[in-house]
Amino acid sequence: MPADRFCDHCGTALYPDDLYCVGCGNATGAGSPASPPPPVERRSSRVVAALETGAHALLSSCARCGGEVLPGEAYCQSCGFRLSNPNAG
Ligand SMILES: [Zn+2]
Ligand SMILES: [Zn+2]
Repeated sequence: MPADRFCDHCGTALYPDDLYCVGCGNATGAGSPASPPPPVERRSSRVVAALETGAHALLSSCARCGGEVLPGEAYCQSCGFRLSNPNAG
């Protein structure tokens, strides 16, 4: 499923269930303030799309919420946590 919207801060493609931009950590406004946060067990559209391309071996997890994180993501899409990236310069 292709992304149908983009971060208004940095232009990164967003998935419908991304709560935070993975490029800059900006809140996407996907979650309603009245709703509880989604369970971390639920696999995000972003991860599902990546698995279809065979990227599962590269998955890591967010140190804060335990959500699945894809390579190249600077921020967790579930909680907005700044991810450590050993390759970042
Ligand atoms: Zn962004
Ligand atoms: Zn997280």
